[in-house]
Amino acid sequence: MIEVTNLVKDYGNHHAVKGISFTVGEGQIVGLLGPNGAGKSTTMNIMTGYISSTSGTVKIGGYDILEQPLQAKKRIGYLPEIPPLYEEMTVEEYLDFVCSLKGIRKKKDRKENIDEVSEAVKISDVKGRLIRNLSKGYKQRVGLAQALIGNPPLLILDEPTVGLDPNQIIEIRALIKKLGEKHTIILSSHILSEVNAICDYVLIIDQGKLVAEDTPEHLSEHFADKNRILLSVKGEREQIEEALEASEYIASYEVTGEYDGVLDVTAETEGTEDIRDALFFEFADKKLPIVKMEMETLSLEEVFLKLTGREGEEEES
Ligand code: ATP
Repeated sequence: MIEVTNLVKDYGNHHAVKGISFTVGEGQIVGLLGPNGAGKSTTMNIMTGYISSTSGTVKIGGYDILEQPLQAKKRIGYLPEIPPLYEEMTVEEYLDFVCSLKGIRKKKDRKENIDEVSEAVKISDVKGRLIRNLSKGYKQRVGLAQALIGNPPLLILDEPTVGLDPNQIIEIRALIKKLGEKHTIILSSHILSEVNAICDYVLIIDQGKLVAEDTPEHLSEHFADKNRILLSVKGEREQIEEALEASEYIASYEVTGEYDGVLDVTAETEGTEDIRDALFFEFADKKLPIVKMEMETLSLEEVFLKLTGREGEEEES
């Protein structure tokens, strides 16, 4: 559905996008994740044909956004970071206007389109109201509705939950997930948990470069710190600590809890291999049952930190 190849965008001397390539298959919900200023909006603006690239190509459904803009743009529904709303119009007037922009001429087709998208984003009950008087969450729904007019197969959503309150965020995320059943979606976000919750594939960009791409699960697994193991061992604390110190697999450890004769330990291992089997037998020999043991898998937050060297933005409460 989307093919982005070697995309570069310079604003004067500033290199905002430095050679990004990726593809998005039909039916996927893909998250473009990155800190502020990473180049997400720039990439999306180029993908929609809103601005041109310095070099590189974008194809939508096989059509080049610059060479065959009409065919490409027909396939896109775009929600920019600031939704393009005319606040003095009612929702219905505005959506009718969007229909005319998208070349839907017949009255019957316009009504059908408006009814359908209003139903999809649940704004049927506010169709007669002035956009100015709607809450931010509802305005965002109207923004989504305009993107959906004409039933484009691809939705490009730039920070669709930014500025919303926690309840509105939950509603818009659920809505996007539902829209993902019928549309391919690429959305940008600087919130890690958001892409984790909505997307089935993540592209992480930082300072204009693609630094990683995978499913949220694989990203976490791939960057797991295999040197760390969490253990719960039953027995006398002194004996357990002796065993930990004597172990040929453990480099260092920290006791993180003690309850009902069980000691919780976070241990650093000597190598990167999975040492769970060896450790199990070592402790079994000493009659110290390991009642719980797991290799540590990093959260997407930690993966992000490792990749960009920075924390993600504070999340909404
Ligand atoms: P945000 O979440 O803050 O919008 P972003 O990842 O979408 O961040 P972009 O808006 O694409 O980032 O900006 C990428 C870089 O390009 C930033 O350093 C930004 O300051 C710069 N930039 C964006 N638009 C312009 C412009 N029109 N002229 C000059 N520099 C720009």
